Amino acid sequence: MNRLDPPDYFDDAAALDALALNTRLKCYPSLAAQVPAIKAGYVQYVAAMGNSHGVVNIALPVPIQAQLKALYASPSKELPHINRIREESEANCCPMCGSFHSGTLDHLLPKADYPVFAIFGHNLVPACKCNSTRTNLLTGANPHERILHPYFDDILRERLFVAQIEDFGLVPRITLRPALDPFDPLVAAVSFHMANVVDRTSILRYLRTSWTNLLRRPSLAAAELRAAPATRQALRDILTAELDRQDDTHGSRNNWRSVFLAGLLDDPLLDWLFAAFLRPGWAADGPLIEGAV
Ligand SMILES: [Zn+2]
Repeated sequence: MNRLDPPDYFDDAAALDALALNTRLKCYPSLAAQVPAIKAGYVQYVAAMGNSHGVVNIALPVPIQAQLKALYASPSKELPHINRIREESEANCCPMCGSFHSGTLDHLLPKADYPVFAIFGHNLVPACKCNSTRTNLLTGANPHERILHPYFDDILRERLFVAQIEDFGLVPRITLRPALDPFDPLVAAVSFHMANVVDRTSILRYLRTSWTNLLRRPSLAAAELRAAPATRQALRDILTAELDRQDDTHGSRNNWRSVFLAGLLDDPLLDWLFAAFLRPGWAADGPLIEGAV
């Protein structure tokens, strides 16, 4: 999960004008008559800041809907942004769920239901395969429940959720805990996005593996943990510094690595971890508990 700058290097309105003049497209010449309505749709999408409660769908003739979807699948020369958004994001963490993969594009408002936005740059968000596992739900029953939009929702810059690790040991119980102030007006939107996007990924499996690795070889969580920290505060400082590094490396406070590390800063867990380092016979960078191999 991450806030991104929208693809402002591309002029969607000018592209529509150029498409309308392209005699090789199946929608020539009928697209021209629809261009004002499509442009109006784009303007109100931005005015509504991509909020799925506020964006109004625009009815278009079925052949035009089909042509816009076909242009997304096979972009003509007027639409270089489609491949550029995809390519520029490949190495980044997923702005929708925080995984370490990207490289596909997600129509934030799905093109099946909103064909008017099928090629609209502000509706094309880089994503990982959470693109196909997320539900098609965009809003919930509560008027504040909605999917977050990486191009508009500044809250995505904040730390929104952390790992909640309980039953410390070889088989912990791991869930996701909101990190946002419970009185924040966007709490319902964040919870909705968590339930409909993040919870449907493999994040819990990732967190379990990270936990197992920490128990097996502590330096896999933070290099400085190769040796036992001198004090509980030193352990906290090492984990905090590593969290800061991971936030910075991935340009996101909600990348899955940071979700894990932030969860380790929970007081009862810090107590347990520090005690594990003090266990008699612990060998440097060795297993923190019996059986962690
Ligand atoms: Zn994702």
